[in-house]
Amino acid sequence: MNIKENLNHIKSQLPHHVNLVAVSKTKPVSDLMEAYNAGQRIFGENKIQEMVDKYEEMPKDIEWHMIGHVQRNKVKYMAEFVSLIHGVDSFKLLKEINKQAVNHDRIIDCLLQIKIAEEDSKFGMSLQEVKDMVSQEDFMKLNNVNIKGLMGMATFTENTTQIKEEFNRLKTIFDDLKPLQKSNCNLQIISMGMSGDYKLAIDCGSNMIRVGSSIFGARNYNN
Ligand SMILES: *Cc1c(COP(=O)(O)O)cnc(C)c1O
Repeated sequence: MNIKENLNHIKSQLPHHVNLVAVSKTKPVSDLMEAYNAGQRIFGENKIQEMVDKYEEMPKDIEWHMIGHVQRNKVKYMAEFVSLIHGVDSFKLLKEINKQAVNHDRIIDCLLQIKIAEEDSKFGMSLQEVKDMVSQEDFMKLNNVNIKGLMGMATFTENTTQIKEEFNRLKTIFDDLKPLQKSNCNLQIISMGMSGDYKLAIDCGSNMIRVGSSIFGARNYNN
């Protein structure tokens, strides 16, 4: 597995408006450093403790993205340094992120996770839930978060027609919500697409892809 070659290969195919998040969950710091030395600066993790450990060990010009499901009681551990939280799926969680951001005197960028997959196992809000949330008075008081876009995960399937439908669903929801500008909400990012489907995702309007195994190789969850 040559991480630098994989990275360069993927980057050479990406249009300029697409940002690449290198998903490094379960991988050792030595692997992340190979990607770092090849120029990669955005890394995605799905467990807060693992991200904190890597943040402490690695150079400080890295942007750390939390791409996994976030438990409210753990937000405090990453509030000091996280660059973008992709998986915001409730008003309660957003309020907690705002509270911890206040504690650290910063504004934390967030994406709202939208449920686009048929699978019940996937997290996320509906279009209506987002509309209800942003129209509440309490939402306007959250001055230490900034909603920069939406994130979605397609169903885990080989059926590209279905994946495409789900990506299109996220793009449609994005277009519907985009005019809704607030001081703490300004939608620009569509985070969708992983190793198996990022090309399709870009065709469907993604401008941020989250790629793990195509860069770092298959993950082994048993070690
Ligand atoms: C693991 C993960 C990815 C990357 O998956 P690959 O198939 O390895 O590219 C992307 N997004 C999320 C939310 C993930 O948990």
